[in-house]
Amino acid sequence: MADASNFICTFNPARIVFGVGKRATIAEELEALGVSRALVLSTQFQKQDAEALAAELGEKAVGVFPDAAMHTPVHVTETAMTIYNDLGADGVIALGGGSTIGLGKAIAYRNDCPQLVIATTYAGSEVTPILGQTENGVKTTVRAASILPETVIYDPELTLGLPVGMSVTSGLNAMAHAVEGVYAQDRNPVATMMAVDGVRALRDALPQIVADPKDAAARSEALYGAWLCGTVLGSVGMALHHKLCHTLGGSFDLPHAETHSIMLPHTAAFNASAAAEAMQPLADLFGGDIGKGLWEFAKGLGAPMALKDLGLKETDLDKAADLAVKNPYWNPRPVERDAIRALLGRAWEGAAPE
Ligand code: NAD
Repeated sequence: MADASNFICTFNPARIVFGVGKRATIAEELEALGVSRALVLSTQFQKQDAEALAAELGEKAVGVFPDAAMHTPVHVTETAMTIYNDLGADGVIALGGGSTIGLGKAIAYRNDCPQLVIATTYAGSEVTPILGQTENGVKTTVRAASILPETVIYDPELTLGLPVGMSVTSGLNAMAHAVEGVYAQDRNPVATMMAVDGVRALRDALPQIVADPKDAAARSEALYGAWLCGTVLGSVGMALHHKLCHTLGGSFDLPHAETHSIMLPHTAAFNASAAAEAMQPLADLFGGDIGKGLWEFAKGLGAPMALKDLGLKETDLDKAADLAVKNPYWNPRPVERDAIRALLGRAWEGAAPE
């Protein structure tokens, strides 16, 4: 556990509005932010919802930009900013998951506009001051106060339609923030409490969502867990797991949530003995063995289990291991190339962690 007698912690100053039906407070929340001409952002997939929201807001929304895309391409941000300026917008509403939230952050990073986020996945980006963006195939990450969304609305009703497969991988993506949070170099007792309860909430909710995706209580519990796990991501440093997922996503174009979901049991098992005390409360949630417990849990939910099923070639594994050990993030266990190659081999194959 984190040492409760000696720590430094920084939490991000965001306003969180949580609950069924809280979508109805958007106009009020915009007013509190001083926004009277919002540009509504979404992906093409959620375009209809974004248009319905803009229609409901009337004059408070000046338009919809429905072209948010994974990894926040800079050319998309530039197009959105031209539209933002042409329409005379004075703030953004991001309706969606990490891709749409990334676009809102990218705009705010450039013009410091207020952001209101209506989060509809479990990825957690809405509560971090971190932006990853891509230009000419290169992904860079920036951290700045202007990137942190000012207000986040979590309305579980808006997650009822999140497809089951995505709910599972997104939920495991959220858990990964918490698992790395408990052993972070800069861990603290408050982030640890949030991490443990976040994982507990998702562990309880995800099987219920798989059984009944419209279970409102389970959706609420999962979203609560996602908020806690995202807050941990925004508060303490991440380690090997996030480094491996950034490598696999950035260099091999693997999908974000699925990659996190496959890697998590393997990276948790890798660090289990080096961070045994810190990880004990999480291990207890999964029958005592964190790696195997998470692997069985993910399998039971029908999550993807093998990197080869995401299109990674076996011949890419050596390169992935080389990249992953280059400029490693701090990690509780030394990151040695052969051990990482073996870990990647098991994750590629879909074998249980060791
Ligand atoms: P996503 O935002 O790409 O969403 C995937 C798809 O699901 C999109 O088409 C989206 O419109 C749709 N969708 C979202 N919510 C839905 C709902 N409730 N019902 C139906 N469809 C819905 O996926 P994601 O996993 O949330 O985000 C991934 C991206 O976020 C990656 O680019 C990742 O790097 C970034 N991310 C950033 C941070 C950060 O702190 N900077 C944290 C986590 C993720």
